[in-house]
Amino acid sequence: MNNEVIFWTQVASTVAFVLSVFGLYRLLVDQKDATIQLLKETVSTLKDQLAEARSSTPDVLAQSLSNRVKLLEVELERLSSDKDANQELVHEKEEELRATRQKAEELTKQVLLAQEMLNDFLCPHCGAPLAVREYHSEMVEYQGREIDVDHDYSEYECGYAVLDGKQRHPCRGKRPRGKSAVADT
Ligand SMILES: [Zn+2]
Repeated sequence: MNNEVIFWTQVASTVAFVLSVFGLYRLLVDQKDATIQLLKETVSTLKDQLAEARSSTPDVLAQSLSNRVKLLEVELERLSSDKDANQELVHEKEEELRATRQKAEELTKQVLLAQEMLNDFLCPHCGAPLAVREYHSEMVEYQGREIDVDHDYSEYECGYAVLDGKQRHPCRGKRPRGKSAVADT
């Protein structure tokens, strides 16, 4: 190889190198954009899901059902006072109102039940979460024979502790729970 060939080979390989680096850079930039785009999409999907979850909680459902009941009542009243109104339509609305009321009642029961279940896991004074729940049985002598006595112990993060329904440690929580608070025993 003469010098000229070596020179042009070097130029060509340098150009190829620069081009490939630039290409790689372009690819990386595109990749970054694509990743950012994907992240943006994921975030927006998560936001949608969160909004959907919020809007379908039992409270919101119960509220929308009770609004529906009110609307139906108003409509029914309007239809009833309208002498020309179709009797069949009035009947239809009455039926719808009855079904919606029933649904609302069922849902309210479920919500109350869920709240009761949740209350079991929260301090009745301040609402702090349950930290420890233990059940254990103890052998005790009673009238000359041994019997099992079951114990139920609950301890909350605020320090409130209950053994077999009796307070062992007072609540040191700061958040008042309002109406559902139970008086200390
Ligand atoms: Zn407490």
